[in-house]
Amino acid sequence: MTAEIITLRKVSKVYGSGESAVRALDSVSLSVRERDFVAVMGPSGSGKSTLMHILGCLDVPSSGDYFFAGEDVAQMGETELARIRNRRIGFVFQQFHLLPSMSAWRNVELPLLYRSTTGRRERALRALDEVGLANRVDHRPNQLSGGQQQRVAIARALVTEPTLILADEPTGNLDSQSSKDVLALLRSLNEAGHTVVLITHDAGVASVAGRVVEMSDGTLRERAAA
Ligand code: ADP
Ligand code: MG
Repeated sequence: MTAEIITLRKVSKVYGSGESAVRALDSVSLSVRERDFVAVMGPSGSGKSTLMHILGCLDVPSSGDYFFAGEDVAQMGETELARIRNRRIGFVFQQFHLLPSMSAWRNVELPLLYRSTTGRRERALRALDEVGLANRVDHRPNQLSGGQQQRVAIARALVTEPTLILADEPTGNLDSQSSKDVLALLRSLNEAGHTVVLITHDAGVASVAGRVVEMSDGTLRERAAA
């Protein structure tokens, strides 16, 4: 039996109030187990980013429950939430969010600076090796292609050995070959044991995941296996 990493029970999120209230999530339930690879797919405005913010402990539900690795997120204080964001979730964004003045390995090392870990450089180099960039560790972002920059960002997400990798439109800024490379990398990381949630509006992108859930107007439903 594998552990449940994400448990959402009837989670709703309402922005604003009164006439202008928007129900961005409407009673969403979802469970993601260790080693799953789940794509959350839906058109613009369907609630994907809202869901991502809640899953990433960047925002809280208006109602319903969220358990991360069995722990009730509503019961956590800011310190504990920050700890989960920094150590247990590896974020990958559409914009790579790399620091331009720093080399690849310095960028990857960043999440480790919050704690006194020895061997930070070695860990950063190992993560870069995992994403196939062992030969680019001293390059700065502007010396790398878009696909390589996103692989650096994935190495940065991996370096803390997170419980969950949360990727929001990771191929949104990439050409088709780089997109394929990044998706193949996410798939191989999943095969190596990482739990991955991939958020996308693109059915082709979603199809690399073993499981696809579809969002529409704030509701979520499981797509039948092909
Ligand atoms: P997606 O990422 O799928 O495009 P979002 O989660 O960004 O969808 O948005 C879902 C709905 O919630 C949309 O109708 C959007 O306009 C609304 N929304 C998102 N963020 C806010 C906010 N901060 N304040 C008010 N409405 C918001
Ligand atoms: Mg969005």
